[in-house]
Amino acid sequence: MTSIAVDHLLNQVRAFVDDEVAPAAAGWSMGAEPDPALFTKAGALNLMGIEVPAYLGGLGLSFAVKTQVCEIIAATDFGIAMALVNSHNVAARLCRTAPPNVRDRYLPRLLSGKLRGCTALTEPGAGSDFASIITQASKIDGGWRLSGEKAWIINARHAQVSIVFAQCREIGDVNGISAFAVDLSAPGVQRYAIDGPFQQTSIGTGGFTLDKVEIAEDCQLVAPGKAFKTVLSEINGARAYVAAMCNAMLRAAITEASAYGVRRTTFGVPLMDHPSWQHALDAAQADLTFAEGLVARAVQDVDRGADAQLSAAEAKVECILICQRHMPSLLHAMGAEGLRPAHCFTRHLAAAQVAGFTDGATNMLRDRVARLKQTASAD
Ligand SMILES: Cc1cc2nc3c(=O)[nH]c(=O)nc-3n(C[C@H](O)[C@H](O)[C@H](O)COP(=O)(O)OP(=O)(O)OC[C@H]3O[C@@H](n4cnc5c(N)ncnc54)[C@H](O)[C@@H]3O)c2cc1C
Repeated sequence: MTSIAVDHLLNQVRAFVDDEVAPAAAGWSMGAEPDPALFTKAGALNLMGIEVPAYLGGLGLSFAVKTQVCEIIAATDFGIAMALVNSHNVAARLCRTAPPNVRDRYLPRLLSGKLRGCTALTEPGAGSDFASIITQASKIDGGWRLSGEKAWIINARHAQVSIVFAQCREIGDVNGISAFAVDLSAPGVQRYAIDGPFQQTSIGTGGFTLDKVEIAEDCQLVAPGKAFKTVLSEINGARAYVAAMCNAMLRAAITEASAYGVRRTTFGVPLMDHPSWQHALDAAQADLTFAEGLVARAVQDVDRGADAQLSAAEAKVECILICQRHMPSLLHAMGAEGLRPAHCFTRHLAAAQVAGFTDGATNMLRDRVARLKQTASAD
């Protein structure tokens, strides 16, 4: 695809956001469910196929383009951007490691948006400490039997197919963890939604229990011993695009508050002419410029196939903290008006908290960054 074609795609995504996301986002933050047609409209733009090879029906584009698309959507609604990119990642994973019959069972409908996918690592008792998952995969004649529970999974309340990580050996054995394609309409699967004031319905968070769910042999996508490493390498990309999405939310909030500062007058002058009011926006912009540099470095590392462990983790930690720090002061700069769901502030405030958990919680990642920096300086 030429750069002109990429620009065309990005413009189409902007129009999709204006027509489909912006009018609905306020409702999603108050509990309305997204219209399934939104996903087929995203499918018509091939947004679930950005990194999927062209010969399999995708666009065959780079990670950097996927990140740009995520940014454009997240500027208005982080939840729907995460829902779409998580479905995308399931499609890409099936293309990389599923046998053709398993891949073809889901891929065309994932790409068209007729069905959604999710990736399930987290369990009620295991989040940061992924190696301690207890969902068990036992070998049976011709396949596997899975039992356990997954929780806090994006798209889980609507997804048809899930990449489920399960333990094939003793609990705690990182070399025993494997990944399976599981059809969530199979007998023994019971799903549930997870709701709450910080949960935009657009992200589709939920969980499911697996009660002796039987799947065919060829649904094992990643062999034991490789799954743990696969997760650690793929998560770098997720950290980089979540960081980029936090920057997009902050950028959108600065833009919206700036425009309000021109319109709204207090004590006879526009808000922007009060130095202390403007200071909040300038401080946010300065930190955003720094955060953009971190994302650019991480995205470049992921795209080049370089070791992105440190750059992606650092970008995620810093961009989330910056977004979490400035979003309340930007909301405050709007006065009471900022609380209206028609604006982005309350939505992005909640999303910045959610971003602090997905793909590695901030506290734990901060320690990881410190350790990686120490190792790098010792080398
Ligand atoms: C909206 C949402 C969507 C999600 N989507 C998915 C998904 O699609 N798929 C999926 O598999 N998971 C998903 N998750 C789960 C997410 O990956 C976990 O929340 C995350 O891994 C943290 O795990 P936990 O919540 O169990 O926290 P815990 O692991 O219990 O940690 C609790 C707190 O302690 C801190 N902590 C833990 N260990 C350490 C340590 N060693 N040192 C210092 N601090 C530590 C953590 O940073 C955290 O602040 C989602 C979560 C949310 C909120």
